[in-house]
Amino acid sequence: MRKKILVTGGAGFLGSHLCEKLLNQGHEVVSLDNYFTGQKQNIVHLLKSPYFEIIRHDVTMPFFIEVDEIYNLACPASPIHYQYNAIKTIKTSVMGSINMLGLAKRVKAKILQASTSEVYGDPKIHPQTEDYWGHVNPIGTRSCYDEGKRCAESLFINYHRQNDVRIKLIRIFNTYGPRMDPEDGRVISNFIVQALKNKDITIYGNGEQTRSFCYVDDLLEGMVRLMNTPDSFIGPVNVGNPGEFTIKQLAETVIRLTNSKSKLVYEPLPEDDPMQRQPDISLARKELGWEPTIALEDGLKPTIEFFKSII
Ligand code: NAD
Ligand code: UDP
Repeated sequence: MRKKILVTGGAGFLGSHLCEKLLNQGHEVVSLDNYFTGQKQNIVHLLKSPYFEIIRHDVTMPFFIEVDEIYNLACPASPIHYQYNAIKTIKTSVMGSINMLGLAKRVKAKILQASTSEVYGDPKIHPQTEDYWGHVNPIGTRSCYDEGKRCAESLFINYHRQNDVRIKLIRIFNTYGPRMDPEDGRVISNFIVQALKNKDITIYGNGEQTRSFCYVDDLLEGMVRLMNTPDSFIGPVNVGNPGEFTIKQLAETVIRLTNSKSKLVYEPLPEDDPMQRQPDISLARKELGWEPTIALEDGLKPTIEFFKSII
């Protein structure tokens, strides 16, 4: 059945791939974006489809449209972008969620929230399971993002409890792939761009902190599967690749895959930078029948090709 689907943040890295995937599945897709970190170039190629529309709008303002499903992805995701205007980041998560939940309630749409592994903060249990409440500094420089996303989860669950809105909560772990913004300061984009230019690779701290990197295609498969689960399953559910790497290992892998002459340099660790992160994906395996299929090196290759094409 062809569904009408709204994707907020549709011009961003994940949103643009999601719009493409949903269109390919035969749905009618509307991208809503204020182009803070996303770009029209990410989605302009989709306009050749009569089933695709783009709307410039800010989710902090109310919006009305008749749709069957809403994927709420609008929110800057990289530390430098979400800290650029911290108050706006909180408003985007909180007021954006209120506006989109109000819309979902009014038109009886199902709504998915792009939450994050950041709700676990600098986690004290490892790997992270969904029942872990997290270890977040509420007044730190990352709190505009972390607490905004935590409040969004609370809004979602309460619209569900109080108003029977059909919700889905996905906790996304670090995801990478083509169309990442080369300027957004995230580790994969930084390292690949630095390696391709044979510039120093900037490791923050001693490089022993870990992250688990999921390729965009795997992530979106999990996200769409979650949206299509029965209404009784709402999550939250971790979606990410459990393969865990130190930042130093990542740097060495990128240097090898790009045949780069770059050297590693060490810079101070940003405030509240989590020391470890790895999703426990047992719940996703059980409820979504999902697990990642693309190993880090296999995902890095097309990502490197993408960055070669744009720099
Ligand atoms: P992105 O910055 O590329 O995309 C976010 C999009 O939202 C951009 O197109 C931006 O212009 C838009 N946007 C921001 N504020 C808005 C507003 N007020 N109104 C309308 N549009 C607005 O980031 P991404 O990596 O594609 O992340 C998408 C979502 O997934 C975000 O909600 C992010 O928090 C979440 N997430 C991503 C990751 C990851 O590793 N990429 C990890 C965890 C969670
Ligand atoms: N990082 C780094 N060098 C960089 C960019 C990031 O060492 O040029 C580190 C950063 O300190 C963090 C990890 O890589 O420990 C992941 O950073 P990113 O901003 O990509 O994601 P997040 O911290 O939100 O998981």
